[in-house]
Amino acid sequence: MRKFSAHFIFTGNGTILEKGIIVLTDQGVVADIIDTNGKLEEKAGVEFYSGVLTPGFVNAHCHLELSHLRAAFGERSGLPEFLKNVAQRRNHNDPEILVEARNADHELWRNGVVAVGDISNTNATFPIKLESKIAYHTFVEALGFSPDRVEKAFGLACQCYDQAKEMGLSASIVPHSPYAISKELFDKITSFAISENSVLSMHSQESSAEDDLYRSGDGEIFRHLTENLNIDLTTFRPSGKGALESVIGNLPIENKLLLVHNIRTAQGDIDLISKTRPLFQTWFVLCPESNLFIENLLPDIELFRKNKLQICLGTDSLSSNHKLSILDEMKTIQSHFPSIPLIEIVSWATINGARALEMDSWAGTIEIGKRPGINLITGMDLQQLRLQPQSQIRKLI
Ligand SMILES: [Zn+2]
Repeated sequence: MRKFSAHFIFTGNGTILEKGIIVLTDQGVVADIIDTNGKLEEKAGVEFYSGVLTPGFVNAHCHLELSHLRAAFGERSGLPEFLKNVAQRRNHNDPEILVEARNADHELWRNGVVAVGDISNTNATFPIKLESKIAYHTFVEALGFSPDRVEKAFGLACQCYDQAKEMGLSASIVPHSPYAISKELFDKITSFAISENSVLSMHSQESSAEDDLYRSGDGEIFRHLTENLNIDLTTFRPSGKGALESVIGNLPIENKLLLVHNIRTAQGDIDLISKTRPLFQTWFVLCPESNLFIENLLPDIELFRKNKLQICLGTDSLSSNHKLSILDEMKTIQSHFPSIPLIEIVSWATINGARALEMDSWAGTIEIGKRPGINLITGMDLQQLRLQPQSQIRKLI
């Protein structure tokens, strides 16, 4: 047994305990939580830390597979240019993929992450996930906007998915984004998702060029598809609607859904989503550092709060982020949206991600019987309960 205390404990479900005590078994399972009402007397065997204790973090959106592209691209290029760079520089046979993905897995662990929703286009990182101390849910992502590629693209995704399942990894097949999936391929993903009752994830509303493609069959993503990827889009008929609106009917209401990025999401989009599917089955994953890196924009987080949406946090990949640190994402949010209480941001970084990835039976909150991991945040403003630039994460368990 070990006993931890600190100036404050954020349990992850909205409770703050001042100088409380967490009792953990040798296996890291929470055996007891003691509320001292802020009056911690000298107690034998209690390890006291300066700072705030939280449950282990959940990173709801990452691409381990792209870790070797760290610092490979310029910042603020916009999404179409970024997509072109990834398509050009991505080499599925690069031996660096495994080395850097393993380093990234270790970096996540050191930074207090216990669970990850990770996008895979191949099986390259599966051995790393199998060995990792982190629990992964793999979103096997299908890619194919060309109607000619439907069978091949879905076949590749199924192969990858079967391998993940054979290895005992948690996985589902998901669409990359409205602009990377043809209607025919999307139909296959949808039927499969319904039959497997799986968790879905999709990049959404990251760039206005997605809407140009669907509204008018034009714009920078259209040009990326036709010029960089040589896809024949002569049979593609624009819907005349925005990208999300064009595909939302393909996202089954029975399935949990993580919408990732949401930079351009406005009230009208939230109204559309809430009319189309249950919001309790829908999570909005924010990757602020990646958004600043690629588009130099952030989502309207206050609007999401006003609508009481379920928010999670993700780092995205090292091709669009300098670090894989959920604490850094939290700092960025707090500095751009100073009125959001830290306790709320911590719940996005913990329990919301755990629920979205169906890992809340053991992760996301400090609760008796769970094994959530324990993080210590140091260098905080303990009067105002705010993160500071120098705040750091220390993984205790
Ligand atoms: Zn992504």
